[in-house]
Amino acid sequence: AIAEEVDKDEDLLVRPPIITVMGHVDHGKTSLLDYVRKANVIAGEAGGITQHIGAYNVTLEDGRKITFLDTPGHEAFTAMRARGAQVTDVAIIIVAADDNVMPQTIEAINHAAAAGVPIVFAINKVDRDAADPERIKSELANLNYMVEDWGGKYQSQEISAKTGLGVSELLDKVLLESEMLDLKANPDKRAIGSVVESSLDRGRGYTSTVLVESGTLHVGDVILAGPYHGHVKAMFNERNQQVKSVGPSEPVLVLGLNGAPQAGDKFNCLDSEREARQIANKREQLQREQGLRTQKHITL
Ligand code: GDP
Repeated sequence: AIAEEVDKDEDLLVRPPIITVMGHVDHGKTSLLDYVRKANVIAGEAGGITQHIGAYNVTLEDGRKITFLDTPGHEAFTAMRARGAQVTDVAIIIVAADDNVMPQTIEAINHAAAAGVPIVFAINKVDRDAADPERIKSELANLNYMVEDWGGKYQSQEISAKTGLGVSELLDKVLLESEMLDLKANPDKRAIGSVVESSLDRGRGYTSTVLVESGTLHVGDVILAGPYHGHVKAMFNERNQQVKSVGPSEPVLVLGLNGAPQAGDKFNCLDSEREARQIANKREQLQREQGLRTQKHITL
């Protein structure tokens, strides 16, 4: 295992919360993520978020920032958790007000609860005639998730991901929830974090979106992610701008790894490429042996 540096209190700075949106299919996850992406004030100035890199960062008018995991469904959330990565601070559970609390809604709630991640409910599609938010609240109450305006402890917000109604109020509630978590990280050390997604790009080779948990990642750093390693050749943000360094809670697309680590794999930065290669090779060998064992198991 790679030793982690211990942080002093005075080195810890507030970091943006990382948010995952989960819910039943068609209840509006994609629409909400798209709306927030487009409504972003800073994005408006800088030409908007042009790339889907698996996560994006928005700045609200008052300067506060939020990072959204922009991966379809809650597969990424569960896959990452299965690999030991906790990359969500607050979960938005979205429920369509013209439908019901569905099996996947309950699954999403259970995933968040199992991870100890606070929940904010977004009751969506309230622009529709058939919308009945109070019914959703009563269904949630039946599951022991009593929302605040029913006297419970869970924040909820009626929204329309289509018109944007209630979305900024929702983000305020998410930020309120995350402020209670007192999220901090030390930006002033070598970066550690998690892989959100990876792919093989024809022009750029292997690319991985990573989320920095603490420290700062720089171009030129020796990086180790799962069984792969390399030098950070270049980094791009979700606006397709090249960046030289990224701090805590900032997602970035990294070029320079010699393979595609999986969602939830941790990344570290090391002093020497030699050391990184040795660890990467060891991990790769371990994975191969485990693979062989599983195969044997299947054939037996
Ligand atoms: P996902 O499967 O949870 O990602 O759901 P989508 O975001 O793809 O939404 C499913 C459908 O509901 C799409 O046709 C959306 O246009 C529609 N939809 C989503 N949010 C709203 C909303 O707030 N109001 C209305 N009227 N339609 C919505």
